[in-house]
This record gives sequence, structure tokens and C-alpha cells, in this order.
Amino acid sequence: MEKNRLCVADLHVHTNRSLCSPKTTTVADYIPYCEGEGIKTIGISNHIYKPRVLGVEYPENINHALSVREEIDAIKSETDVKILLGCEVETFHSQEVGVSIADARAFDYVLLAASHIFNWKHEYEGFDLSSPEAVKKILIENFVRACEIEYDVPVGICHPLYPIMCPFESDVVDSFSDEELEACFSLAAKRRRSIEIHACLCRTGTLLDDEGISPSYVHFLEVAKKCGCIFHFGADIHVPSHFSGSHEKLEIAARRVGITEDDLWELAK
Ligand SMILES: [Zn+2]
Ligand SMILES: [Zn+2]
Repeated sequence: MEKNRLCVADLHVHTNRSLCSPKTTTVADYIPYCEGEGIKTIGISNHIYKPRVLGVEYPENINHALSVREEIDAIKSETDVKILLGCEVETFHSQEVGVSIADARAFDYVLLAASHIFNWKHEYEGFDLSSPEAVKKILIENFVRACEIEYDVPVGICHPLYPIMCPFESDVVDSFSDEELEACFSLAAKRRRSIEIHACLCRTGTLLDDEGISPSYVHFLEVAKKCGCIFHFGADIHVPSHFSGSHEKLEIAARRVGITEDDLWELAK
């Protein structure tokens, strides 16, 4: 129970309202895992895309994400786990942002996904993704955009600057200079965008150390901490049985760079 003392909230969890999660995954399924692992707050953040974006024909829209509210209301009196309703909003490339300022008010918070390379395979032709430098340039542009978009609900940035599913993830991560990271994370700090301590810290696309963590990506957190960012944990779990043990490595990484409770997003405490 005490093993996740810094990580007491996970704000990036998917249910069956996301197509990438099994049809059987419900909010209630996660509650026993939260109770068993000392997670006091869980945030359901299913995907939202604007309709008619090429390659996204399925119903991952605002109504779909909001329909989880009924599920939360039905079980909230049965558990001490606080259940928040968030959403993971697509902001990658120049596509229209998935949720407007007004619509976002229906959620407790918004996570902006500014590095979903895999979701836009149909759109790739217009972008240069041929080299680590080119991918990095797009990631930075979208990170800056995610900092600048206006919302009046709390906003986090999920898997920040990480090139998810890029064929050369490691080369992209290693291509960032400290100056580039500082420029991004200083802006995020100024705009109060919570930086996600995400499961990409443990992805095998980058070299992992003895504790199963990517030192290259830990460095991103180190710079973010130096720039005064706030943080939240997001294991990006899609299947309840994957919940077990998912937060330990994230907590190790956070402690390694000196993140304390004082550095956490209000929602993540
Ligand atoms: Zn994502
Ligand atoms: Zn996600």
C-alpha cells in the first residue's frame, strides 16, 4: 500500500471508450487495483479526435469520452478512490484541436497529446519524418502549440516530446539539446501545463538501464524540473490487469530527478 507514496494519482487511464482499449474495460475494473496499490485518484482520459480527420473513422469524440461520467457517478459512492473525468485530446500536426474551450469545461482536466505519430499515418505524406532532426522539429512545434492553446480547465501534456511508435524513437530522443528542452519546458512552466511522468520512460524504443528506465528520457524530466514545471503521473493503461506494478518505475524515475509532492499538479496529489 505504501509503495507508491509519491505516485498517489494516475491521470492517464483508458477504458472501452477508447478503441485501443478492450471492449470489456470499464472504470469499475480499475478500482480494486487502485485500492490495492495505494492510488487514491484515478483520471479516466479517453481519446478525442475531431471527426472527419483522415484515418479516424471511429467514434472517439467528445460525447463518447463524456459518456464515462455516468459510469463514474454509478460507482463513486462505493469507493474512497477519487475518480476524475479527463480526456486525451489530439493536438498533433496542424489538425484542428479535438476539444474547444467551451466543450473542455465538461471535463475535470484535459491532457493534450502532441506526439502521436502513429495516429496520423495517413497524414504523413505532408510531413518530413525522414530523420530524427525532422521528427524532433515537429515534436517541438506541437509541444509549443500544446502550451499555447487556450483552455480554462487544468491542462497537462501527455508523453511530452516523446516520439511514440516512431521507427527511430531512441535517435529522436537523443537528438534534443538541453537548450531545446529548456525552451520547451520553460514555456510549459510559464503556462502551468503539467508534464506527464509517462510510461514511455520504460519503452524499449530507447535503451533502458538496470532498473528498466530510459536514462535519456529521464533527462527530459530533469530539465523540466529545473525549469520549474509541475508534474503528474500517467501510466497510460488500457487493460486493468496491466495496472499492477505500472507505477513503481515511474515513481523511481521521478525520485531520481528530485521531484517531490511540492512539484505535483494539484489534481495529482
Ligand atoms: Zn497518447
Ligand atoms: Zn493514452
